[in-house]
Amino acid sequence: MNNRNDFNVVVIGAGPAGCQCARTLAKLGYKILLVEQQKTFEKNDFSSAATPQETLDKFNLPETVVGSYWRKISIITTNINHTWTSPKTLGAVLNFAKLREFLAGEVESYSGKVWMGCRYTRHFQEDGKAIVKIRRFNGEKIAVSTEVLVDATGHARAVIYAQKSNQPQFLNAVGIEYLIEVEPREYDKYAHDLKFFLGHKWMPKGYSWIFPMEAEKQRLKIGVAKYNLEHQQIVETKPMRWYLELLIQDYMKLEKYKLIDIHGSVVKYSAGLKDIYYQDNVIVIGDAVSTINILGGEGIRHGMENAEIAIKYIQKYLKKRLSSFRTYQKEMHRRYAIKWNISEQMWRRRYMQDSDESIDKGVKYLKSLTIEDMMNILFEYNFQKLYKGLGKYLQHKVKLVRQKINNLFYFRE
Ligand SMILES: Cc1cc2nc3c(=O)[nH]c(=O)nc-3n(C[C@H](O)[C@H](O)[C@H](O)COP(=O)(O)OP(=O)(O)OC[C@H]3O[C@@H](n4cnc5c(N)ncnc54)[C@H](O)[C@@H]3O)c2cc1C
Repeated sequence: MNNRNDFNVVVIGAGPAGCQCARTLAKLGYKILLVEQQKTFEKNDFSSAATPQETLDKFNLPETVVGSYWRKISIITTNINHTWTSPKTLGAVLNFAKLREFLAGEVESYSGKVWMGCRYTRHFQEDGKAIVKIRRFNGEKIAVSTEVLVDATGHARAVIYAQKSNQPQFLNAVGIEYLIEVEPREYDKYAHDLKFFLGHKWMPKGYSWIFPMEAEKQRLKIGVAKYNLEHQQIVETKPMRWYLELLIQDYMKLEKYKLIDIHGSVVKYSAGLKDIYYQDNVIVIGDAVSTINILGGEGIRHGMENAEIAIKYIQKYLKKRLSSFRTYQKEMHRRYAIKWNISEQMWRRRYMQDSDESIDKGVKYLKSLTIEDMMNILFEYNFQKLYKGLGKYLQHKVKLVRQKINNLFYFRE
């Protein structure tokens, strides 16, 4: 094997998880190759990429990857519309293409290699190393050797499952998004606000959203996500584009807009976190081990955090202080299993059982929560706050019932 093609770590997939993994390892001085099947990051610019402020701070992300900032969260159901507002910035809608471009640029700045337009096809073991076969977009075949091979291929899980039959069962979702340009006065209505649409009117078996993407060009992201599953009450839904048009026509009432791009992708989440996390010298990160939170569809921050966890184990493995990644899987389960299981249960209820009325009711009692509580629920997955909301809601209900009873007696007297 040519020395030029001999690496400490080869990362397959330049999503947020793979890029962050390659970035940190390259910075630590390891010989790194990052391989991505798409020729450019614009090709699969699929993510809405809303994230809390913590992501920018924790991963030292520059302004250039930010599309816009947000400080409000709105939930719109079939009958309710409520907004929680903070005086300070709470997060950003990232430019997903620019985020990965920046991270990949960092890999190169630390002397790592980034090969775009190169597809992983297979690998095998030889003398304790993985020999990885890669095909360039022009058909050229290349082999590289590596001590550790990272599967960061997202829902494709291209490295760890040579055969699809070995895969666990997945909960599947599809998301489609329009990037549109609107008039300044229209953009202002959506600036700084993450608007989520729940309820059977807007997207049965799923949800939809309007996010501000770029103030300068007055660009908005409008998306719908639908889970492929049986709902107890909803039998049929219309095509997803129909619900996108519904947002544009019925909610936004846009007479004029420019469609800049249509993109989308799928999410495949393993219920109960049954993914394979490692095999020989292969370690799996990001959506390929279901780090996305299925309830809210938030995956960028978790994929990047997961990369940092994996790096601890990769370093030990390279220093021969570990002979397998078993402890990595343990740490991942310790960290994610309980919270992600609760999210999954709530997700099942919300997207497989809830009637439109119960969604309305749920949001009605969320109204009593503060914006801090909402951030805790949506981004910290701290569901105890929900009980606080429920408590206040019940108190309010009890008060109403008391009033009714008092009135009843008052009129009788
Ligand atoms: C419509 C939609 C909206 C979303 N919105 C948000 C949001 O608002 N906020 C948020 O935090 N998360 C969001 N997510 C989720 C988030 O985008 C993902 O969780 C995140 O991108 C996962 O990162 P990853 O690096 O694990 O995988 P990915 O981002 O999927 O990256 C995997 C990469 O591997 C490459 N690849 C695959 N197979 C091969 C191969 N054989 N050879 C070479 N390369 C390969 C792919 O081309 C891809 O670039 C959204 C997802 C969707 C689908």
